[in-house]
Amino acid sequence: LTKETLANIQATDEDLQAFVRMHEDEALAKARAVDEKGDFSNPLAGIPMAIKDNIATNGLETTGASHILSGFKPVYDATVTTKLNDAGAVIVGKANMDEFAMGGSTETSYYKKTKNAWDHTKVPGGSSGGSAAAVAAGQVPYALGSDTGGSIRQPAAFNGLVGMKPTYGRVSRFGLFAMASSLDQIGPLTRTVKDNALVLNAISGFDKKDSTSVELEVPDFAEKIGQDIKGMKIAVPEEYFQEGISDEVATQVKAAIAQLEAMGATVDKVSLPHTQYGVAAYYILMSSEASSNLQRYDGIRYGFRAPDAKSLEEVYKNTRTEGFGDEVKRRIMLGTFSLSAGAYDAFFKKAAQIRTLIIEDFNKVFADYDLIVGPTTPTQPYGIGEEIGDPKTMYLGDVLTIPVNLAGLPGLSINAGFNGGMPVGMQLIGKPFDEATLYQVAYAFE
Ligand code: GLN
Repeated sequence: LTKETLANIQATDEDLQAFVRMHEDEALAKARAVDEKGDFSNPLAGIPMAIKDNIATNGLETTGASHILSGFKPVYDATVTTKLNDAGAVIVGKANMDEFAMGGSTETSYYKKTKNAWDHTKVPGGSSGGSAAAVAAGQVPYALGSDTGGSIRQPAAFNGLVGMKPTYGRVSRFGLFAMASSLDQIGPLTRTVKDNALVLNAISGFDKKDSTSVELEVPDFAEKIGQDIKGMKIAVPEEYFQEGISDEVATQVKAAIAQLEAMGATVDKVSLPHTQYGVAAYYILMSSEASSNLQRYDGIRYGFRAPDAKSLEEVYKNTRTEGFGDEVKRRIMLGTFSLSAGAYDAFFKKAAQIRTLIIEDFNKVFADYDLIVGPTTPTQPYGIGEEIGDPKTMYLGDVLTIPVNLAGLPGLSINAGFNGGMPVGMQLIGKPFDEATLYQVAYAFE
């Protein structure tokens, strides 16, 4: 299986460009070891998969698709990498992504542009665009991504996949290159709901190496799969269908919601009044955290160092000037500004207050409902090169996914159907640590 997978990727990836790096020898060695052991009790044993390029793999180059980390080989595994290895998973290579997970189209990658699996002129979404394209094109049955403001769910939506952003604290962030530590979560992208639950089973759980990981028993996320959804109380926020949401997306998602209703769920309109402030609050909080997290890339500790520096100051300056791309620099500047003494109260503090209001919006709805349903993204995939020059439009594309990260909730994107030949994503948002209910409803729909 691994040999065939590698051969297929070699044949298809020159076109698709989903992988930044293959780990062929290591994958074959792992597959052989799993075969020799002969224990296939874990559903992931011997199954090939792809991992996003911001998740550390011991001894194997991991770069976050940034030039500044070229050549960097971590000396440890991320906790999810260890868990996958223990489960017998075969990691075939690193999936392309936006540089340091900053972007929504995988176009900010230093290395290459990945294509949408359904239309090679369109973006695959991002930042986990390589992971999504690889799974949707059939190169691997599953991949891991990371989601800070939508980076698992949006590419899942753009490629017709199932993508889970678990509850904050559910999956260890140890070994995930930090973007915004209070928002980041790792999660699976798959073609089916059941596969997704099985992968989440394998990667979840308390980890003392991540201080925000939650000490809570991990249920079998597949336990409710197959149960009917009669009587389930579903909330549909009116703000999720307002201006900016394309007709194609709205029509498709409304039809999908009608199907849930036909299966016996109760569907009510609700309001999440602070939704419109989410993007602004997120881009301040995320940039602030990211600017601080990215300080470690100094040309001394990891990867790339500018070759011509003549002083320590120049090592820092030239390395960061040459090593970071434009989008990363934009966020470092925005974050450093928001955290500066003169701007802190007006920007960072205000954004933190808005975050609380958004959390309260969700709490109110979840007092009466089991889950929230709406579109994952305002539009369907756009053309490669079409939006990359217009960061503000790109940022607004995250309006429906960002609030979920700000509130730390689980969010699952599934395919609501195709419109005009391209997929439309539907987002299911759950109560904290209630991923199992999201899978139950998603499976009923699938
Ligand atoms: N598109 C969003 C951003 O650019 C989300 C990124 C992410 O979730 N990593 O910040």
